[in-house]
Amino acid sequence: MQHFLKRFLSLIFPLSCLGCKAKSVLLCRVCFYTISLLKCQECPGCRCTSQYGEFCPRCSKLGGWYFDSLIVCSKYDKSGLLQKIIKNFKYKYSKELAVYLGDLLIRCVGKSESRPESPGRPELYTFFEQLFNEVALVVPVPLHKKRLKDRGFNQAKILAEFLGRPVCELLSRKINTPHQAKCSRQERLKNLENAFCVRPGFESVSKVVLVDDVCTTGSTLNECAKVLKEAGVSYVACIVLARGDGR
Ligand SMILES: [Zn+2]
Ligand SMILES: [Zn+2]
Repeated sequence: MQHFLKRFLSLIFPLSCLGCKAKSVLLCRVCFYTISLLKCQECPGCRCTSQYGEFCPRCSKLGGWYFDSLIVCSKYDKSGLLQKIIKNFKYKYSKELAVYLGDLLIRCVGKSESRPESPGRPELYTFFEQLFNEVALVVPVPLHKKRLKDRGFNQAKILAEFLGRPVCELLSRKINTPHQAKCSRQERLKNLENAFCVRPGFESVSKVVLVDDVCTTGSTLNECAKVLKEAGVSYVACIVLARGDGR
């Protein structure tokens, strides 16, 4: 109900671009194209350069990770434009912003027509082409049903739908964890323990792409991947719009 009210209010109060304050749009194209894709991907563990966002040999050896790769579309500057867009999308539901964020996602995986003003990363295209050929499903990180009710939508599911592959909500969230951004790393890990499970009737597939809007330490993705791996999935590739600085 809440998001309908917010949408109604936005009709009364005129819109202005989140970047340049230009009138009557929530985001103008000029500002949108200032958001660039990351030049190179990183090892999800130690953040050294890694072509396809896979773990470096050292981090693989250390273990503790359940997903296999993490692709991050763009940089997440504190109070930067992308952060503003994501927050507005999440907390003041706006389909207009969803389209922009979806565009960023598909540009990163190379599924959008290349735009001269904002080229994608061709080296990732082959990685994703291969992955999407083998991947049966795209899985959004789930929201707890209480939060889903409050928000009215799962932002990860909306983003997942842009990838143009079958989206399946394989996971559910049993525990309504506190807002992760407000917790320390230790607290996050504790909060996430056993927070997810596969939905009843789950039939295992070999590879999935797990989607979320942002990640920080990667612990949410890791817990989801753990559950998927225990249920027989062999490869979990993750993709997020942006990654914040982990604490
Ligand atoms: Zn603008
Ligand atoms: Zn590493």
